[in-house]
Amino acid sequence: ELAMKMGYSVTEIIKKLLMMGVMVTINQEIDFDTATLLAGELDVVVEELPPEQDPTEIPEIEDDPKSLVHRPPVVTVMGHVDHGKTSLLDVIRKTSVTEREAGGITQHIGAYQVMCQGKKIVFLDTPGHEAFTAMRARGAQVTDIAILVVAADDGVMPQTIEAINHAKSAKVPIIVAINKIDRPGANPDHVKQQLAEHNLIPEDWGGQTVMVPVSAKQKLGIKELLEMILLVAEMQELKANPDREARGIIIEAQLDKGRGPVATVLVQTGTLRIGDSIIAGTAHGKVRAMINDRGEKVKKAGPSVPVEVLGLSDVPEAGDILAALDEKLTRSISDKRIEKQRNDLMRSKKVSLDDLFQQIQDGNIKDLNILIKADVQGSVEALSSSLLALNKNDEVRVNIIHAGVGAVNESDVMLASASNALIIAFNVRPDTNARKLADNESIDIRTYRVIYEAIGDVEAAMTGMLAPQF
Ligand code: GDP
Repeated sequence: ELAMKMGYSVTEIIKKLLMMGVMVTINQEIDFDTATLLAGELDVVVEELPPEQDPTEIPEIEDDPKSLVHRPPVVTVMGHVDHGKTSLLDVIRKTSVTEREAGGITQHIGAYQVMCQGKKIVFLDTPGHEAFTAMRARGAQVTDIAILVVAADDGVMPQTIEAINHAKSAKVPIIVAINKIDRPGANPDHVKQQLAEHNLIPEDWGGQTVMVPVSAKQKLGIKELLEMILLVAEMQELKANPDREARGIIIEAQLDKGRGPVATVLVQTGTLRIGDSIIAGTAHGKVRAMINDRGEKVKKAGPSVPVEVLGLSDVPEAGDILAALDEKLTRSISDKRIEKQRNDLMRSKKVSLDDLFQQIQDGNIKDLNILIKADVQGSVEALSSSLLALNKNDEVRVNIIHAGVGAVNESDVMLASASNALIIAFNVRPDTNARKLADNESIDIRTYRVIYEAIGDVEAAMTGMLAPQF
C-alpha cells in the first residue's frame, strides 16, 4: 500500500528499508517515523492524517469554560436491605413538595428533583447500588454523591460494606445517613465506630465523612441531610453548559403498550428539546414528548433534569448515553452500532487469568483488580493479604476491590464487570444468576478450596507461567 502511494515497487521499498537497517516483510506495517525517514530517502512528502472519527461514537463537543454554569447534584441512596432506603427516598420526596403541589400526582420516572434553600437536588429513585453499578459497568457515571443509609439499631452489614466499596471504586463522595434513630436500640456511636473501621471517619471525630442522624419514620434530620448534600455538592463544583446539544444518561427504559419505547433520561449537559434528533445505544428517533417527575409535559430539559422521553425507535438500556445530534448522524451511528454489537458478541474480552500475562505484555493491564468471596472471614483476610503480598514487580499491581463472606452474587459480578476484575471464590460458589451474568459479561470466576493454589495461580498468571486448564 505504501509502495503504491509512494510510486515505487514493493521490492524497491523493502530494499531501501533494509539499507536503512529496517527488516520488513511485504505485509508488515511500519510506523509513521519510519515512513517519514523512508520518504526522505525517496524524495516523497508524507503527512500524518488525524485519527478518523469512530463511526459508532458520538462526536465530542468541547465546552468553553466560560459557558459552564452550576448544575444540581445527582444523588443515589445505597445501603443494606431494610435499613430504610425506600422510606428515606419517600420522605425526602414528600417533605420537599410544596403545599400548592401537594395535591398533584407524583410520577415515578426513575429520578426526582427536590428543592432545599432555593437549590435543587436530584435523587435517583432506584435505591441500592445494583442500578448504580449496572450503569457504571456500561461506562456511565451519573451519581455525584452517594447517601449510605445505615440503620442505627442494626449497624454495618454486608451490603453496607458492598455499597461503600461500590461508591469508593466509582470515586463518589459518601454521606452517611444514620437512620432509625427513633428506635429504642439505636446506637449511632456504635455505627460510627463500625464505619471508622472501613475508613469512613465522622467529622466530629476529626475525619472527613459527613454523617447525619435521621429518622425516615419520624421525619427527623431530613432537612439537615439535604443541607449537607448541598454543602458536599458545593465543594465538587458541578457545572455544565446548558446552551448546546444535549447529552444525558438513560436511567431506565421500557416498552409501553400505548406509547412505545419510553426512556427516562437524566440530562447531563446541554438542553434537550422537543423535536431533537436523538440516539441512545442502538436506538434513535426524534423527541416526541417529554414528561417531568411531576407528570407535567415539558418542552425542554437542561442539565441535571430527569425527564421521560418518547420517540425512540427501540428501548435503550439503563446506562446508555443519549445524545441530540444531526438526524443523518443519529441514523448512521445507530446502524453502525447494531453492526458492531453483532461483531463484538463474537469476541468480548475481559481480564482472565488465562491470558493475563499476554494482556500485561500487550500493555492492556496495569492493575489486576480482584474481588474475593469466601466462606469465612479468616479466609477472606488470608487471601487478601497473600494476594497483596504479590505486589513486588512494577509491571502489574494487585488491587482488592472488594472482599466479603458469602456466595458470589450478581452484585459482585456487576462490580467485577464495572472494574474489569476477576473473581476469586474460596469454598463458595456463584449462585445461578451470578453465573449467568458472569457468562454474559465474560467475567472470570475462579473457585478454589486451597488458599495457596489461588495465590499460586495468580502469581503464575502474572509471570506468564500459568499452566493451561483442560
Ligand atoms: P430498604 O430495604 O432499605 O428500602 O428499607 P425500607 O425503606 O423498606 O424500610 C424497611 C423497614 O424499616 C420498613 O418497615 C420501614 O417502615 C422501617 N423504617 C424505615 N425507616 C425507619 C425509621 O427511621 N424508623 C423506624 N422505626 N423504622 C423505619
